[in-house]
Amino acid sequence: MAVKVVRRPELTFWEKLYVPQILSGLKITSWHFFRNLFLHTAHLVGLFKHLPASVASQSPEELRPLMSRFRSRHRLTVREDGTPRCVGCMLCETVCPAKCITIVPGEHPDPNVEKYPVRFDIDLGVCVYCGYCVEVCPEDAIRMDTGILDVAAYSREAMQLDIHELMDPELRKPIKECDLNFPHQCQLSDGEMKGSWEGINGL
Ligand code: SF4
Ligand code: SF4
Repeated sequence: MAVKVVRRPELTFWEKLYVPQILSGLKITSWHFFRNLFLHTAHLVGLFKHLPASVASQSPEELRPLMSRFRSRHRLTVREDGTPRCVGCMLCETVCPAKCITIVPGEHPDPNVEKYPVRFDIDLGVCVYCGYCVEVCPEDAIRMDTGILDVAAYSREAMQLDIHELMDPELRKPIKECDLNFPHQCQLSDGEMKGSWEGINGL
């Protein structure tokens, strides 16, 4: 097979000087600066309203509204009785291309609900925000609509959301106590069963 050698283009004399390129960049930046300064001033006195000027937002203090389809941090949705809608079908874990979802399903006492997530973790340090988990879920049990964008953390462990943070997006690590009001084997208490299914949804 013939190999085509592509030579790196040589810099011209003027490009090697760099100064003309810097001046060219400054010219473009200055043009936008003075144009916007003039238009914003003119808009204040009602002139040139038909010519739009650039608008900057003071992020992060002033955030621009998110599009309705924007994918932000995940959450698990709940039924009216406060239990998770998730039935532990494992479809999201299977479809996840980053393999960052870990689910341990448990038998649900209600015969109409097959399973529930004893454990549900998402490692945001690995997640690529593709949204496949939301698309594939047959129960509308997982959504990416919290509007939470600040997912930075000081450790890899802190990037791993567990069922507490997924069911209550306001929670932040370290989580000391479990406030989930549905019975489950809580990781905060070494996998002990927390509460009872009795009385929930007529069980
Ligand atoms: S958004 Fe994509 S990568 Fe992230 S957990 Fe869902 S399926 Fe996995
Ligand atoms: S979140 Fe949805 S897709 Fe994932 S295990 Fe639960 S029910 Fe299945």
